[in-house]
Amino acid sequence: MAWQIVGYNKLIDLLQRSLRSGRLSHAYLIAGPPHVGKMTLAVGLSQAVNCESGEPPCGVCRSCQRIAAGKHPDIKVMSLLSAERPKEKPRTEIGIDDVRDMQHEASLPPYEGRYKVFVVDGTERLSTEAANSVLKILEEPPPRVLILLLSSREHELLPTVTSRCQRLEMRPLSASISREVLVQRWGADPEKADLMARLSGGCLGWAVSALADAEYLERRRQDIAALNAVVSMSYRERFNVAAEWTRRFERSRDDIAGLLNLWLGWWRDVLLVRAGCPAAVTNIDLKSDLEAQAAQFITEEALSAAGSVFRAIEQLSVNANPRLVLEVLMLAIPGVDRAKTSQTVAGKV
Ligand SMILES: [Zn+2]
Repeated sequence: MAWQIVGYNKLIDLLQRSLRSGRLSHAYLIAGPPHVGKMTLAVGLSQAVNCESGEPPCGVCRSCQRIAAGKHPDIKVMSLLSAERPKEKPRTEIGIDDVRDMQHEASLPPYEGRYKVFVVDGTERLSTEAANSVLKILEEPPPRVLILLLSSREHELLPTVTSRCQRLEMRPLSASISREVLVQRWGADPEKADLMARLSGGCLGWAVSALADAEYLERRRQDIAALNAVVSMSYRERFNVAAEWTRRFERSRDDIAGLLNLWLGWWRDVLLVRAGCPAAVTNIDLKSDLEAQAAQFITEEALSAAGSVFRAIEQLSVNANPRLVLEVLMLAIPGVDRAKTSQTVAGKV
């Protein structure tokens, strides 16, 4: 057996039992935060239903290997980054074009495997038309078709769609399990594994790619320095930063989403230090910087900063005007001078 997923034994047991008893659902909703391993589970399940060995998924038969390499004709993945159109600007919807063929294809038998598997990565991104097209297949599932809907924003899905799927929830792993897996399975040094486990928020896929990226920690250090510079900036300088981030956002949404998530984590840590819980911080390697910032701001300011960053992340994910969102954010982040004033005032009261 070669499920590549670690830390989700209950889910795997459930799927193995369903496979053995022939009671697999025709559709699964795999729900969980980004990089938690939803696609890894989807690939494992696609292998399991098409594996040629007696211990599915074996990971070594021709079918398992072709699925792992993304080269199996019966496995179709739909996402915002459809391979067919790499040169297009980043899209915000999985449209009807992407799922148009799905209905027709679902009605034909598999080319070479036992099951045709349709994976939708980012189901919340389906346009209304596309979601209705998927719904039609879910309503009358053809034999030998398995539909896997992946989503990190389950609450945005149509209830008519989710009610027709069996739900598999992937919760983030605890920091201690992540740490253990990173050391034992990926050979990470224990201190680095501890930091990556904390930074990943229990999303192992993220931790593994960050471990493999030799420059990640240095990039993060520079990003945090740039973020922390904002609190000392004038409003004019902050608007320049907002303009620069808007340009970056237009090139890569993930770039700015990553930066804002880093900032959110940072303010959360500042709050934890202020609350007297420094052991719980994420940025464990930058404790002295955290302590310095925790001394500069009162709790209400750190809380309001975290709230503002959180709102900006939410708004950008639903396609609000990026320039406006980022400018409002820049206005809302407390300044060092204002913090000093507030502390003096608070001190006098
Ligand atoms: Zn196999």
